[in-house]
Amino acid sequence: MTTRSNEPKRDKSPFHTNRANDWCAGCGDFGILHSLEKTLTHMELAPDKVAVFGGIGCSGKTPYYLASYGIHTLHGRLLPFATGAKLANPALTVIAVGGDGDGLSIGAGHLVGSGRRNVDLTYILFDNGVYGLTKGQASPTLRFGEQTRAMPAPTMLEQANPIALGLASGFTWIGRGYAYDTRHLGELIEQAINHPGSSMLTVLQPCPTYNELHDKDWFAGKDRDTGQSRLYSLQDEGYDPLIVEGAAQTLREQKMLHCLSKAQEWGDRIPLGVFFQDLSRPPLSGTLIRRQPEGQMAAPAKQPVSDEQGHSLVRLDGLFDRLSV
Ligand code: SF4
Repeated sequence: MTTRSNEPKRDKSPFHTNRANDWCAGCGDFGILHSLEKTLTHMELAPDKVAVFGGIGCSGKTPYYLASYGIHTLHGRLLPFATGAKLANPALTVIAVGGDGDGLSIGAGHLVGSGRRNVDLTYILFDNGVYGLTKGQASPTLRFGEQTRAMPAPTMLEQANPIALGLASGFTWIGRGYAYDTRHLGELIEQAINHPGSSMLTVLQPCPTYNELHDKDWFAGKDRDTGQSRLYSLQDEGYDPLIVEGAAQTLREQKMLHCLSKAQEWGDRIPLGVFFQDLSRPPLSGTLIRRQPEGQMAAPAKQPVSDEQGHSLVRLDGLFDRLSV
């Protein structure tokens, strides 16, 4: 895997908080939080220019543990909140963080809507195969027939594949990292944030409390014959996810097929890295700007809402006149 150079030497990240954290010891969430905090610092973003939206679940608490704007939203609804914030204030770096249960079950409709819109935001999906906060029920990413310690019987449902779902929904950057490989994960977070469109980064995240099937020893497991690790980097093996601006539709179809095929790999070989990056599709902000008669959209968050005396600038009389019968 590639390594990041020129890492800034800082004593303390401006995104660091000392807030008490109640995640279980050894939880993969810590690796994701650490990578996020380190990456935002490395990118030299200002904390008041970053907004982090959380869903419901253990991962949904992430905004409390970062000194940026943090919004704890409703179950499965973090992406509409994040979308609204980005459209209202395009200068913000918007990051949505949620679990596999939050995003692929109750929030699946919003996942599809967000991919279709291609708003410039980053969605980090914590994937541990269980609903940790509610005592370890099977989440949509647990595979058919698997049974973790909190389940009375194996799951009877087929797995929802987050990478295939992200691709079908229209996300224009799709990647996967591993919570305990924080250096590689940080590089992926940076690429996802820099991508001009909707990016979806799935992170394999051990839940040592409820998912003993896929713990860190399992992820670190090596093939008995080859000695090769289960986790491998797509980019180290020459996989090219990029569709450049103006590329032909045939190339796009080809890259989508490659992405789908890599999304199916699991078990002895699990790919990490960038699966798909489509620069041929413009982000929604570009389309909105072109539609404005004056050629430029003023950010709603920058609009004045009151005069110097604090009186509202909203004029309802004109609206009432138009509505009167
Ligand atoms: Fe992490 Fe699992 Fe504990 Fe939740 S229940 S904090 S996911 S280890």
